[in-house]
Amino acid sequence: MLIDTHAHLNFNGYKGDFEEVIKRTLENNVWMINIGTQYDTSKKAVEIAQNYPQGVYASIGLHPIHLETGLVKIKNDTEEIEVKTREEEFDYEKYKNLAKSKKMVAIGEIGLDYYYKPKTKRKLELFKKKQRSVLCQQLKLAKELNLPVIFHCRIAHQDLIEVLNSKFKIQNSKITGVIHCFTGTWEQAGQYLEMGLYLGFNGIIFKLNLDEIIKKTPLERILIETDCPYLTPPPMVGRNEPFYVRYIAERIAKVKNLSFQDLSKITTENAKRLFTRLNFHVY
Ligand SMILES: [Zn+2]
Repeated sequence: MLIDTHAHLNFNGYKGDFEEVIKRTLENNVWMINIGTQYDTSKKAVEIAQNYPQGVYASIGLHPIHLETGLVKIKNDTEEIEVKTREEEFDYEKYKNLAKSKKMVAIGEIGLDYYYKPKTKRKLELFKKKQRSVLCQQLKLAKELNLPVIFHCRIAHQDLIEVLNSKFKIQNSKITGVIHCFTGTWEQAGQYLEMGLYLGFNGIIFKLNLDEIIKKTPLERILIETDCPYLTPPPMVGRNEPFYVRYIAERIAKVKNLSFQDLSKITTENAKRLFTRLNFHVY
């Protein structure tokens, strides 16, 4: 059994067939957590999860690229055209309401993303301040609900580490979580691991060489994910899906010099340890 700890079947790219994708995923003994990035996609992730007694879970959060900053452009879910994102203010109570579902296992993906940034120094300061503020509000929600956090971080590790070390004193608080799609340095990885966090790896390990980091990361802190529909791992092509998490597991097993079975067992245990609600059975 495997768990894809970061999927987006709640996105438009699966609008017509997410039920079929889920069916073949579960048939292959793979569970998944669908991750929200805004209120709409969070709600959708929860709604999908509610329809399955086991194996399909949700996470809710407002991703930093969807904040109301007036400058962000991202790629559409499936097509290679640039579209302006729908921007959103974080509404604490609205998100808290979604968390009533027992199939909701985490807060995220939330964090910092400096990939698209304003050009002037003053605007850049405001932009970073806003991201930090919304992140902190959501960390507060995670603490209130006693839920783990799925962090997204792009070109902003130093600032994220600072937030986690100062504002939230993560070691002494109840905040636990994973740095999803980790691509930082070993030094940064070490700091996250010291805080008790997990590192999530996906198809990006076939594009960037993260072998040294994977080798050094303790096995019990590794989570596997697809980030589908993005980052399709070879040999597959086209739209990614949760079942392909097996190719991530195969690759990490190879780097760690373990059997596929052992790696699967350990990473599944890791996911169930971090996301405690995966252990609930809801009928
Ligand atoms: Zn994602």
